[in-house]
Amino acid sequence: MRSVDVVIVGASLAAAAAAKRLVDAGLETIVIERKELPRHKICSGILSPRGHRFLLENFGPLPSETVHQPTSCRGVTFHFPSMVSMPMDFFGGSTPHLHRKYSDHWAIQRSGAEVHDRTSFAGLEDKGDHVVVQASRNGEPVEYRARQVIGADGPSSPVVRAVYPGYAKQIPWFFVGQKFHDIIDCPLSADYFHFWFHPGLGHYTWSHARDGRQIVGVGFKRGDNFARKHEVVQRYLEEKHGVRLQPAADDHEGCAENFGPSLINRYVFGKGNVLATGQAAGFLNMIGEGMSCALHSGAISGEAVVEARRRNRPVQEVYRRMIASEVRRCTDQWNPLKIAFDKPHEADFPAALMQLGWRDRAKVLRDMWRFIVLFKEFNWGRQIVSGALQRPVIGGYSMQRWL
Ligand SMILES: Cc1cc2nc3c(=O)[nH]c(=O)nc-3n(C[C@H](O)[C@H](O)[C@H](O)COP(=O)(O)OP(=O)(O)OC[C@H]3O[C@@H](n4cnc5c(N)ncnc54)[C@H](O)[C@@H]3O)c2cc1C
Repeated sequence: MRSVDVVIVGASLAAAAAAKRLVDAGLETIVIERKELPRHKICSGILSPRGHRFLLENFGPLPSETVHQPTSCRGVTFHFPSMVSMPMDFFGGSTPHLHRKYSDHWAIQRSGAEVHDRTSFAGLEDKGDHVVVQASRNGEPVEYRARQVIGADGPSSPVVRAVYPGYAKQIPWFFVGQKFHDIIDCPLSADYFHFWFHPGLGHYTWSHARDGRQIVGVGFKRGDNFARKHEVVQRYLEEKHGVRLQPAADDHEGCAENFGPSLINRYVFGKGNVLATGQAAGFLNMIGEGMSCALHSGAISGEAVVEARRRNRPVQEVYRRMIASEVRRCTDQWNPLKIAFDKPHEADFPAALMQLGWRDRAKVLRDMWRFIVLFKEFNWGRQIVSGALQRPVIGGYSMQRWL
């Protein structure tokens, strides 16, 4: 059994950030990844300015293979059923359009950690002073012994499931899927990521250009039919926006998503010597932007391990104290008071709204309200409002709600 300081599960961006902090502090760190690297990752690859800064500051300039065409994105355009569209540029200018297969591999290599790919996490036992991690490689069992384990293994996190077996049943699950189309005619600007606040289309509807094709994506509560939902969106884009596309290519894809924990401050940070970070912990910024919070939370998980050893404190205590800043950033993005009176996002929604005439402004607000009503069945409204009211009183969001 290989014995190291820290095992990180998942060769993701959160993992790369955590590994960087650990390796820099001199801790022997192994990253295990179930797929062969470089691995495919379903993602639009639209990086927020904060995520971009993190990559530059920690890993250096991005090599050319880490981006798709168009190589950069100016910002986001919101579209509404009343046919008002609002383009919003990112603060600080365009950001790279990441090709996750290569950007994640580049970042994990730059972290300096030892990486074991084709090695799938299967379970763990926290023995108090160390953790035994069970995994399998090419069908053969393999074990590691580590002082701490970090689960950076994405929304369906097997690490979180190992630590909290009932957790996955307690939250609503969504499916997001995308199809790729050759373009006949597409009036949607290729410089922006396009998002529809349209309850008739789904919980999460988007489109953007990539490598000469147009992506049409749709997200909805798990259990609905992807092909049907996608067809409705494609028809809508053609009728309302004049987007004419060839039938979808065969390489469509989809996955489960855990929207929700960051809206209602129900993050899951692990137990004992096992930490969860990135989207495994529930970090997801508004309109599904998850890379910047994966990077920052990952880095904090690594720093927490280093700090806990230095101070000889329980790692959960240290991690929870340190991660509160990222919780504030992420949950602020969903906080209606912050949206109304502050600037929690990285593009200026209030300014774009004020540029509209008062009639269009009213339409946008009405359409947004109708869209929010779509999420009523999840009973998030009261929890969001109570978090929003608590925020100025305690200067953050209650740690009592975290697992
Ligand atoms: C369709 C779609 C579009 C998106 N678009 C954007 C976007 O434009 N911008 C943005 O910022 N975010 C976007 N996101 C969100 C973003 O992709 C995620 O929030 C982000 O990748 C989370 O990073 P992570 O490091 O937490 O984990 P992930 O990137 O999810 O990585 C988890 C890793 O763990 C590995 N793993 C899982 N199980 C095991 C196991 N048993 N053993 C070993 N390894 C395992 C996986 O293979 C994977 O490599 C999008 C997501 C989807 C689904």
